Amino acid sequence: MNIYRELVQKQRAFFLQGKTKEVSFRLKNLETLRELIRSNEQELMEALKVDLNKSEFDAYLTEIGIVLEEIRFTIKNLKKWARPRKVKTSLATIGSKSYIYPEPYGVALVISPWNYPFQLAIAPLIGAMAAGNCTILKPSELTPRTSAILGKIISENFPEEYIAVVEGGVEVSNALLEEKLDYIFFTGSVSVGKVIMNAAAKNLTPITLELGGKSPCIIDKDANLKYAAKRIAWGKFINAGQTCVAPDYLYIHSQIKQPFLEELRKAIQEMYGETIFESGHYTRIVSERHFNRLVAFLDNGKKIFGGSYSFEALSIEPTILDHITWDDEIMGEEIFGPILPVLEYNDLEIMMNEIKVRPKPLALYIFSENQEVQNKILNDISFGGGCINDSCYHLSSPYLPFGGVGESGIGSYHGKGSFDVFSHEKSILKQTTRFDLPFRYPNTKNALKYV
Ligand code: NAD
Repeated sequence: MNIYRELVQKQRAFFLQGKTKEVSFRLKNLETLRELIRSNEQELMEALKVDLNKSEFDAYLTEIGIVLEEIRFTIKNLKKWARPRKVKTSLATIGSKSYIYPEPYGVALVISPWNYPFQLAIAPLIGAMAAGNCTILKPSELTPRTSAILGKIISENFPEEYIAVVEGGVEVSNALLEEKLDYIFFTGSVSVGKVIMNAAAKNLTPITLELGGKSPCIIDKDANLKYAAKRIAWGKFINAGQTCVAPDYLYIHSQIKQPFLEELRKAIQEMYGETIFESGHYTRIVSERHFNRLVAFLDNGKKIFGGSYSFEALSIEPTILDHITWDDEIMGEEIFGPILPVLEYNDLEIMMNEIKVRPKPLALYIFSENQEVQNKILNDISFGGGCINDSCYHLSSPYLPFGGVGESGIGSYHGKGSFDVFSHEKSILKQTTRFDLPFRYPNTKNALKYV
């Protein structure tokens, strides 16, 4: 038997013993996971440095800290979430009581990407554990050091029939997808999302797809330019733009374009200094292939900031490209790097139409003090989630479910959303035996006879 089939079978057998359904078991293991993350913090930071040159500050903020907060929140609320919920009973079912029982699916497969290789592997795992599933985690092959540490931490501390890390690339993913799983949680590109959905269809396995796309960032004429510049520079260039919700491109009202771009230049310089390659604090591009794809975009439009790159360091300066149109190559796909194209608009409707005719974005950001403009954009454009007067920050709240819509994804998670995504809601009607209402039965003219 192949090793993946054997692993899935082992996990299913363990799941059927019922241990993972005990809330005390889930809490104990979440606490163990939290302790392991804390005690391996330094090693994890070193791995993230090797794989992506992430600074300790960024590694803590966007990978380790965010996951520890997610575990804390989950542990605090799990008993409440896992309890059966009593819901209202309708007139038609009078006399009965209605409940929703959350139950785990069974064996969950989590496939994660390289850009936040720790966070995007562990955050879904927290949801899967909280909901009472067994989990197979397949991290990205492009960040091997982090994937190896994940493998080591998990295999040394959890039995593989409960949680297993399986390292490897596309072949390993595909081999796992051949198996009959009870849930698949995938984070990655739109094209691979389609492969996953196809594979899941064979067994009608439920899925979550956390995908990507081009996330617009609109700066309207009455925006607070200084704050907008700082918050956009942060959201775009953190992790060298390799963030699924990073502002992909700017749509700036022509009246404030020049003063805004001036503020943006200042903000980038303040955050990253003049000698970014020597700073040692700037995330690199994950691979030569990804680096070459990005460098090719630098010829688009007119460079008005940055533009230098280092092949040895696989690093590209924060770059702003002006005079970009939808016909430029950079507008044809998700950028996923530190290059920020600028489009301008005069007419809100026309600008919104350009966004609406394209695939629904994962995120959208509106910088404006005008509530009418904010509401109009929110009402008219469909997208996964986003911020008004900020970028990327919606991800950090456990109270906001995070996910895409249309091509940017299916389903959402974070906070209670992570518990929900890995739980089936079993609906139960508990009928009374004190009386029996006759109206549903045929021949109700003799109704009273039956009461
Ligand atoms: P990717 O789709 O190339 O890879 C993701 C995972 O899928 C990896 O583990 C990889 O080994 C596996 N994989 C790759 N090709 C496969 C195939 N043909 N069959 C089965 N499995 C396969 O994505 P990536 O390059 O690692 O990540 C970048 C993409 O992920 C971007 O589009 C980004 O927007 C998106 N992303 C989305 C989120 C989100 O939360 N929505 C977060 C991070 C990244």
